[in-house]
Amino acid sequence: MFNNNRIRIAMQKTGRLSSDSIKLLTSCGIKINLKQQKLIAFAENMPIDAMLVRDDDIPGLVMDGVVDLGIVGENVLEEERLNRISQNSEHSYVTLTRLDFGICRLSLAVPVNTTYTHINSLKNIRIATSYPHLLKKYLDKKNISFKSCMLNGSVEVAPRAGLADAICDLVSTGATLEANGLREVQVVYRSRACLISKNGDINTDKKEVINKLMTRIKGVIKARE
Ligand code: ATP
Ligand code: ZN
Repeated sequence: MFNNNRIRIAMQKTGRLSSDSIKLLTSCGIKINLKQQKLIAFAENMPIDAMLVRDDDIPGLVMDGVVDLGIVGENVLEEERLNRISQNSEHSYVTLTRLDFGICRLSLAVPVNTTYTHINSLKNIRIATSYPHLLKKYLDKKNISFKSCMLNGSVEVAPRAGLADAICDLVSTGATLEANGLREVQVVYRSRACLISKNGDINTDKKEVINKLMTRIKGVIKARE
């Protein structure tokens, strides 16, 4: 059984956030035993266990109180929060701090040969995305109705494949958009990685460790500025 006094922190197993997440903990002096690529990696010198999972699972694990902490992109976090609100399920969490990595934006992009003058150009078109709730929230505010095409991958090829007229996807440099003949036209959501905690009761011993971790994380981020 799990030792209830150890803090469980969910982090991305492999992907764009994984090495920065591990590096952050390592810089805080936490020695994580990552030798075997297992679901759980134990810290040797602090009562902390890292759960290595897909990033999409992290918000739910925290909101359900299965883990105490999580490091995840705000894009994935906010999408899951909106999803859970729409399903009337548990969606609370606490942001402990925003982090200095995983910086990207969720943007609308159209094929370069499309005429785009104003956001109204998007009216009633079909938009491919993995973030239907964030997209809907943004376009609802602007009073733009649209059709969505939900894709969990290869969103950028959807217009070329004739599946959609535009896309709403994560962008950092814009190179992928350019390579796919797309032009960024609106930023929907600006995101970075953040450290979140569950909203329920956390015992005093764990709170002490979390406070210690927070002090170290803030110090590490400050030193990197
Ligand atoms: P998983 O297999 O865990 O589901 P994934 O393929 O969904 O991974 P990644 O591509 O590894 O996800 O991206 C993880 C997160 O990294 C994104 O949700 C976003 O918060 C952030 N991110 C995305 N693109 C970039 C980028 N170019 N630079 C930095 N961070 C990014
Ligand atoms: Zn993912």
